[in-house]
Amino acid sequence: MKTFDELGLTAALLESIRNIGFESPSPIQEEVIPYLLQSDGDVIALAQTGTGKTAAFGLPTLQLTDTGRNETQTLVLSPTRELCVQIATELGKYSAKMAEIRIVAVYGGEDIRKQLRALDRTPHIIVATPGRLMDLVRRGKISLDAIRHLVLDEADEMLNMGFLDDITEILDLLPAERRTLLFSATMPQEIAGIARKYMRDIREITVGKRGEAAQNVEHLYMFTPRESRFEVLKRLLDYNPDIYGIVFCRTRQETKDVAEGLMTGGYNADALHGDLTQAQRDSVMNKFRIKHLQILVATDVAARGLDVNNLTHVIHYQLPDDPETYTHRSGRTGRVGKTGVSIAIITPRQHNAISKIEKCIHREFRQLEIPTGEDICRRQMLHLAMQIHENQVNGEIEAWMGPVFKQLEEVSKEDLLRRIMQLECGHFIDYYREADDLNLQFKKKDKPRQKSHEDEFAQTFKKGKHRGDAQHSDFVRLKIDRGRNDRFEPRRLLGLINDVTGDRSIIVGDIDIAPKFSFFSVPKHQVARIYDAFATSKKAKGIRLGDVKGDRASTNNEKTRRATSHEYKRKGKRNK
Ligand code: ADP
Ligand code: MG
Repeated sequence: MKTFDELGLTAALLESIRNIGFESPSPIQEEVIPYLLQSDGDVIALAQTGTGKTAAFGLPTLQLTDTGRNETQTLVLSPTRELCVQIATELGKYSAKMAEIRIVAVYGGEDIRKQLRALDRTPHIIVATPGRLMDLVRRGKISLDAIRHLVLDEADEMLNMGFLDDITEILDLLPAERRTLLFSATMPQEIAGIARKYMRDIREITVGKRGEAAQNVEHLYMFTPRESRFEVLKRLLDYNPDIYGIVFCRTRQETKDVAEGLMTGGYNADALHGDLTQAQRDSVMNKFRIKHLQILVATDVAARGLDVNNLTHVIHYQLPDDPETYTHRSGRTGRVGKTGVSIAIITPRQHNAISKIEKCIHREFRQLEIPTGEDICRRQMLHLAMQIHENQVNGEIEAWMGPVFKQLEEVSKEDLLRRIMQLECGHFIDYYREADDLNLQFKKKDKPRQKSHEDEFAQTFKKGKHRGDAQHSDFVRLKIDRGRNDRFEPRRLLGLINDVTGDRSIIVGDIDIAPKFSFFSVPKHQVARIYDAFATSKKAKGIRLGDVKGDRASTNNEKTRRATSHEYKRKGKRNK
């Protein structure tokens, strides 16, 4: 294995690499960087996500940029807005010690005027989605005449998203003496076609599945009664809000059930199994690849076609029979330099499965405590606090703040934070208020875990004093899958209940609007009527009503609502 110092990079870049904390180059970096610096042929690199491609093309193209020239010299094409932003940010970090280099990201879905302004001074490097780039080229805002490096990042993904025409149009506009670097996880026909027509002196580099991947995977299990398996899965997901993972099931039916249960519960999940058409499978896989989907529930067979191995978690809803399949599954987690986590949910009947796998993979499993309701609420609140802390305020927001400040004039900072937490995390507190400990101990079976009674948080949590009506036994707390992200507010919720039931006399209390859900309390004797009305009224079409514990649900359309674009954006942001 080489060191970064041996690759021929400048001192300025090496200093940034050290500051970022990269210790040694990844295999693809080791191959691509010296090649780009020393020769002038093209490159096709077949490599999966998480192999360090950004630095592989980023470092050498930065080094080969002549900042003295006021021209765009490098063009990086990438399939999505998120990736464009990510690449541009990453290049910014690498070039922190390089004077005066201008890097701009342009992509669809954002007001073009802002991007036009960013292009006022010619950037040296442009990172773009193909459609928006062509738009700007046609407007005469971007000149491709001086491009010396074209990078096609995640080329197969761009083709999947229908960018072939835009890409060939761009390729036709570029100077003939440029170099082309093509990165892709797979090698479909169209890519071979592009390569034949537009590339020359091609050096092919394939970075295989990292065989040693298992080395940086932690093997864990959770031990729980059979009937708690699904609840344990939900806790695991709630405890890891930034999860990007696959939940492996054994049968199609189980896959469907688990995915359906998660979607109903508002998780950003979907299923991949053999009963889907090829087109449906492709669509789910693509959404997962580009991280529009956080959780994929899959059978082993269906997941075989999925070339994603940079998962934060692999979850075994059921362990496979053979250890080889286990190795396959768990090898999908663990990024460059980051430990992955493989967690099996084990019930007493599968007690022996663990030791069998341990023997084969020569690694030991460790028991992981199932998070308690308190653990989850604390974690969620801290997660939100960290997001708020890290969130960069965009200057633009100032123009909108006047009325907001006025509205909240009287509210102290502490109170404001309490309210934000209540709004965003209140539903977790509701859901987990009476949550049981689901851990079984391997030896001392069924012995309940000692809880610390000094824990102040736990005390308030249990009492749930702040809940008025919901605690009242004559009221039942319900939940619907519309929330602030759907521009829902208490008035609209009341209006909806009135419209759907046709009854304005129902008492609705204690409304909480969370991002994706709203909660409210209604008198016990009205509950059956309300469910009926929601299940049959046209006005409730597509809306899911359930009780807070998720034991009961009614919906009057057969398809579960998929994540809205709002949720996608949130998730995208979270995943970074
Ligand atoms: P890809 O484009 O292949 O999916 P990225 O370039 O996004 O991969 O890199 C994946 C992650 O690995 C990023 O978080 C990146 O910062 C990190 N990374 C890249 N190269 C190295 C390295 N040499 N050492 C440690 N971490 C690295
Ligand atoms: Mg990448």
